[in-house]
Amino acid sequence: MKPREIFLRALKRQEVPRPAVGSATSIVTMDLMDATGVSFPEAHLDAARMAELAAAGHTIIGFDNVMPLFSVWHESAALGCPVEWGERSRMPDCRGGICVIEEEIKIPTDLLTREGCRVPLEAIRLLRRRFGDEVAILGKVFGPWTLGYHLFGVEEFLVNTLLKPTAVRRAIDTLKEVAVLFGRAQIDAGADALCLGDHATRDLCSPEAYRDFLQAVHGELNERIPCPLILHICGDTADRLPYIRETGIDCFHYDSRVPDTAARRLAGQRLALMGGTGNIAVIRNGGEEEVVRDVESKLAGNIDILGPECAVPLDAPFGNLKLLSETVKNVGAW
Ligand SMILES: [Zn+2]
Repeated sequence: MKPREIFLRALKRQEVPRPAVGSATSIVTMDLMDATGVSFPEAHLDAARMAELAAAGHTIIGFDNVMPLFSVWHESAALGCPVEWGERSRMPDCRGGICVIEEEIKIPTDLLTREGCRVPLEAIRLLRRRFGDEVAILGKVFGPWTLGYHLFGVEEFLVNTLLKPTAVRRAIDTLKEVAVLFGRAQIDAGADALCLGDHATRDLCSPEAYRDFLQAVHGELNERIPCPLILHICGDTADRLPYIRETGIDCFHYDSRVPDTAARRLAGQRLALMGGTGNIAVIRNGGEEEVVRDVESKLAGNIDILGPECAVPLDAPFGNLKLLSETVKNVGAW
């Protein structure tokens, strides 16, 4: 079975000859930039370089999927956020806060042809042409909660979930359309599935706020975007997993702060689980022993797609990602 099929079947919890291995978030490290000859920040802004660096997720690391949107800022840049695209050793960033909550947000009619969207769409097309049906191609969109942080500023957005919940709901209703538009365009460009990043993390969003503001919206995005979705939320999400599993979304990309067996218990038997490998303890600071022990823990927890919990730190060695991938592929021989 080809890596693409293994990945896509694992996303649906269908039978696979071995667990899938891959990432929904950035796998780029500085030593991977050296190995490919492609660096940040160019890889955020040039489709050919973006595709080349993403391809290394399969050709060098051995993952079953590739994912070219390394930054969280693409559609926000297209929406008008003045993004600073960082450097080789620093991810892009932006102060955000370009809108106020009372004002209506206007989605630009040329959103998809603006650089922030156009470049990753072209990179997905290049990856599809290169890999055909061999490797799964994952795209990425951000949900209205993360886009709210970006457009209004984190503090302004969060304060208003309490002070002006009606205005926040209206903003969420507009911003979810960005995910639909950009998501459908990525599918047209060749994406097999999409990561839906929405940073409703425990320190910034209570489980009740997740239920009241986002659960139905995530369910709606799942209905309206015609491909499997992988919801990504960092941090300890144990208190909202029972809500997430009711959204109908196929897969949840979880953080190592949720223990593997607890994640499976809370996710139930329908929701696939991906990620969960600690970026600091295992990927950056670990060695063979930590990687193998981590894979064993994932298998015991019936995790469907093994891989890093979130964007890999730029100063981690990609050798540990490769080791993770090799270990998973040898599982059948255990
Ligand atoms: Zn994350």
